[in-house]
Amino acid sequence: MLNVMTVDVEDYFHASAFADSVSPADWTTLQSRVVRNTDRLLEIFDHAGVRATFFVLGWVAEQFPDLISRIAQAGHELASHSYDHGLVYHKTPEVFRADLRRAAAAIESAAGVKVEGFRAPTFSITERSLWALDTLISEGYTFDSSIYPIRHDRYGIPAWPRHVHRVGCASGSLWELPGSTIRHLGINVPMGGGGYFRLLPYQWTRYAIRRLNKKEQRPAVFYIHPWEIDPEQPRIRTGVVSTFRHYSNLDQTEQRLLRLLKDFRFCTVSDLLAETGKARKPATFYPQAERNSENWSAPPPNTEEQRAGPMADSLLPLPRHAPSKCPSDM
Ligand SMILES: [Zn+2]
Repeated sequence: MLNVMTVDVEDYFHASAFADSVSPADWTTLQSRVVRNTDRLLEIFDHAGVRATFFVLGWVAEQFPDLISRIAQAGHELASHSYDHGLVYHKTPEVFRADLRRAAAAIESAAGVKVEGFRAPTFSITERSLWALDTLISEGYTFDSSIYPIRHDRYGIPAWPRHVHRVGCASGSLWELPGSTIRHLGINVPMGGGGYFRLLPYQWTRYAIRRLNKKEQRPAVFYIHPWEIDPEQPRIRTGVVSTFRHYSNLDQTEQRLLRLLKDFRFCTVSDLLAETGKARKPATFYPQAERNSENWSAPPPNTEEQRAGPMADSLLPLPRHAPSKCPSDM
């Protein structure tokens, strides 16, 4: 089964762990490592014959347009990781829209390709920033990967559908690729990359992806950052928890990635969606209708979700009609 390989192209000092220690004004004064680390990922993917989706920070595209062009020329897909790495739930809708446009302009001018996908910094589309989906749709985005269906101190919507699906708003709909989980003892356990890949033994990731692929017949959406394969990166002082999350096992991640690429098959988001669209007729999930329960009725019995077996427990019911209202910044 094909899984999705994604990279969040940012430098080590962009990580949200350092948001209180490093301001955007400092970024150009710090040693940058993003070009060498991303080039190493490109080598690894080239050697493995894997094409991935690269969610690029607009600031990086502006500073290093040649890198972005190389990613596209190597056959990978480009998408947006915002311009300034600010958390979506800390932005107003107007500021979010302006940031989206600035990032897309930088990436598109560097590589000459249209940006149609988005991943929020630190999966920061949550209950309080669901309006962002409507902004993305109205800006022409066709897919998003910003929602993690788990409980976490900084992100997550635990009841959100766990698998690739379409999500609808007043402006239309788009594909959502949630952060990957498996179900264990009635809760969603994260396993999709980043710290979950780096902090836990490799065997955990291998077990979880196999289980998702075999038992649930669903792809994993894996993510990695260029700085995660760079144990030599300069150290930035921050809190104990953030230090542990950011710096643990940086010297092991590249070897783990090489194993992962041998153990599983990967493709871009768009390649997966092309296959998914062919394989099944997607139903659309309307989060606002779920909130406005008076608009809400049980799903028809023959929807894709109800036939889906193991995945059905994670999906919220679908409305019979599109909601009249939607989280919107219009
Ligand atoms: Zn990021």
